[in-house]
Amino acid sequence: MTNESEAAHVQECRDWQAVLAANSWAGIAWPKECHGRGATIGQARIFAQEESHFEVSSGVFMVATGMVGPTIIAHGTQAQKDYFLPRMLNGEHIWCQLFSEPGAGSDLAGLATCAVRDGDQFIVNGQKVWTSGAHFSDWAMLLVRTDSDVPKHRGITYILVDMRSPGITVRPLRQITGHAHFNEVFLTDVSIPVANVLGEINGGWGVAQTTLGNERSMIGGGGSGIGFKSLLHLARTSGCANDPIVRQELARSYTRFELLGWLSHRARARSKLGLPPGPEASVMKLAVSERVAADGDLALAIEGANGMLTSTDAPQDGMFQQMFLNQWSVRIGGGTEQIQRNVLGERVLGLPSEPRPDKTLPFKDLPHN
Ligand SMILES: Cc1cc2nc3c(=O)[nH]c(=O)nc-3n(C[C@H](O)[C@H](O)[C@H](O)COP(=O)(O)OP(=O)(O)OC[C@H]3O[C@@H](n4cnc5c(N)ncnc54)[C@H](O)[C@@H]3O)c2cc1C
Repeated sequence: MTNESEAAHVQECRDWQAVLAANSWAGIAWPKECHGRGATIGQARIFAQEESHFEVSSGVFMVATGMVGPTIIAHGTQAQKDYFLPRMLNGEHIWCQLFSEPGAGSDLAGLATCAVRDGDQFIVNGQKVWTSGAHFSDWAMLLVRTDSDVPKHRGITYILVDMRSPGITVRPLRQITGHAHFNEVFLTDVSIPVANVLGEINGGWGVAQTTLGNERSMIGGGGSGIGFKSLLHLARTSGCANDPIVRQELARSYTRFELLGWLSHRARARSKLGLPPGPEASVMKLAVSERVAADGDLALAIEGANGMLTSTDAPQDGMFQQMFLNQWSVRIGGGTEQIQRNVLGERVLGLPSEPRPDKTLPFKDLPHN
């Protein structure tokens, strides 16, 4: 995607999101007092299914409506709800997530970006990395360290920052697909009002869990990867649909596809009960990760030598190559496969937790790179 085509896509998303809001189809399952339509999750899903039949997208608002919005609904003050929720629903504010740092990805609680209070402002210094869409975002959810004298999970604050604040520098990172989807973000003496803290000062870890749970559900429920019908079509048009090995792999792919459908029914049943995303979000994310990896391998195996081509030289303009390369986004973003397994081992199977000697020591006494 070129800079121009990305800018056009962002504008199309803003325009479509504005149309949705103007007709009360944005925030369908959010409560009315949170500026939503007050309908059910099931009704929101029906709308999404119908919407998918049209060439429209509000994709750049996924972080806003899928992650920040639910977090503000769960932890925000009424003033925060009234300011931020309508503006993300109407296409005005695109959001990004300033969580990961060069030294804090899987170990997110080890983050070092620090905020020092100065009257009614926090002054923030540090660096974030892998920030999807930071280059076109208006606002960000930011995790900062506000107390280094307590164990690492207890000194974190969740704060909302205007991406146009002085002192924020965004630098793009080019990834394996050739696109620059994410960025490094440098924060130098950035002043953020204390009123923008979401939840309690030093209580940000709990607030972040709401965001991360919603992120896992969103990635797991997003149906990422190659649709089964596309793979079948590829096998037929490549003349290998009768190959016994390919048939066996296609059957496995179909099984994965069906299992994911049932897993997502289970996740939806939980949200219908009004429960927040639980460990089944990790099951879903892991299942989607395994699927994109296996289906990516299968697609390129079916293409044979053509699998080595790219872009317009490759079959279907390199669609399968892009999907193959994109698998690592799904497998790493929102928590790696290994981390999802840790979550499942500890929270679902009740296995002994990993040794974590750093859980009780003050953050300032931990060894740092
Ligand atoms: C496409 C994409 C988009 C992203 N967007 C954003 C974004 O918008 N905002 C944001 O804040 N972050 C974003 N991220 C960052 C993402 O959350 C991190 O990459 C991820 O959490 C892993 O952290 P890391 O890259 O630092 O890897 P590390 O944590 O350094 O992990 C390296 C390897 O060690 C393994 N590992 C680490 N700890 C353990 C453990 N305890 N047990 C077992 N194995 C372990 C990991 O599984 C991994 O294989 C994005 C990442 C991707 C790929």
